[in-house]
Amino acid sequence: VMADQAFVTLATNDNYAKGAMVLARSLRNHHTTRKLVVLTGPQVSDPCQSVLKKLFDEVRVVDVLDSKDTAHLAMMKRPDLGVTFTKLHCWTLTHYSKCVFMDADTLVVSNIDDLFEREELSAAPDPGWPDCFNTGVFVFQPSMATYEKLMQYSAEHGSFDGGDQGVLNGFFSSWATTDISKHLPFVYNLSSIALYTYLPAFKQYGGNAKVVHFLGQMKPWSLTFDPKAQKVRGGSQDAGASHSSFLLDWWTLYSREVLPLLQ
Ligand code: UDP
Ligand code: MN
Repeated sequence: VMADQAFVTLATNDNYAKGAMVLARSLRNHHTTRKLVVLTGPQVSDPCQSVLKKLFDEVRVVDVLDSKDTAHLAMMKRPDLGVTFTKLHCWTLTHYSKCVFMDADTLVVSNIDDLFEREELSAAPDPGWPDCFNTGVFVFQPSMATYEKLMQYSAEHGSFDGGDQGVLNGFFSSWATTDISKHLPFVYNLSSIALYTYLPAFKQYGGNAKVVHFLGQMKPWSLTFDPKAQKVRGGSQDAGASHSSFLLDWWTLYSREVLPLLQ
C-alpha cells in the first residue's frame, strides 16, 4: 500500500527546484515511508535535474504546452493559467492510489505520513480567507477522469485568483461546509502570515508545527545566509525577525544537505 502512495511537488525553474530539494530532504529526515515525486519543467537546468533525480524517486518533466490532449485545448483558451495547469498535472500520476501535494516552498518539521489516512480533497484553511483551502498542502487521488474535469472546469470558469487555488476551490467547492475530516489542522500548512494576524495563537500552538509554508513574495532562497553568524539576511526586518527560526531551519538544511550536491 505504501509503495503506491507518494508526496508530490512541483518546480518549474531552478529557484523552486532548490525549494523542492529541501522539501525532499525534510521528508526523508522525518522518515517518510512514501515515495517522493517532483514535476518539473524544461526550464530546470541539467545540474538541478540531476540533483532532483538523487533526492526524488520519480522526476517527471511535464510540458502541457506540447501535449495534444485536453490540457492543451484548455490552455489555448486560458494562456494566463500556465503554472496553474502544470500543478493540476499531479492528477495524472495514476500509478499512485493516493498522494499528498506540497508546494516547493514548504518545509516538513515532523512526520506527516498520517495525512494518507485522509481522503480527497483534504487541505488546511487559507489564513487570508478561511472558507477557502490553501493549496500549498493537499491530499488527492490521481485520476484521469478528475484531471480532465479539472481542465474543463478551468477552461470554462478560469481562476478567481489567477492561480491553482482559485481553480481548486471552485472545483472542490463543498470543502468549506461538507466534511470536517477534510479540514486539515492549520499546523499541517503553517504560514508566516499567522505571526502577524494572530501572534498569541502562534505562541500557543506554533510549537506543534508539522509543515511550514513560506507563502508570499519572500522565499527562503531569495534571502542570504551568513553561516558564521547563523543568521538569515535580507528581506524586511519584520519577516526576518519573526520568522527567523523556520528560515534558519530551511537554510541549515539547504547548506548542509543540498548545496554539497549542487557543487
Ligand atoms: N511554482 C513553480 N514555479 C513558479 C511558480 C510556482 O514551480 O514559477 C510552484 C511551486 O511548487 C510553488 C507553487 O507552484 O511552491 C505555488 O507557488 P508559490 O509557492 O510561489 O505561491 P504562494 O504559496 O506564495 O501563494
Ligand atoms: Mn507556496
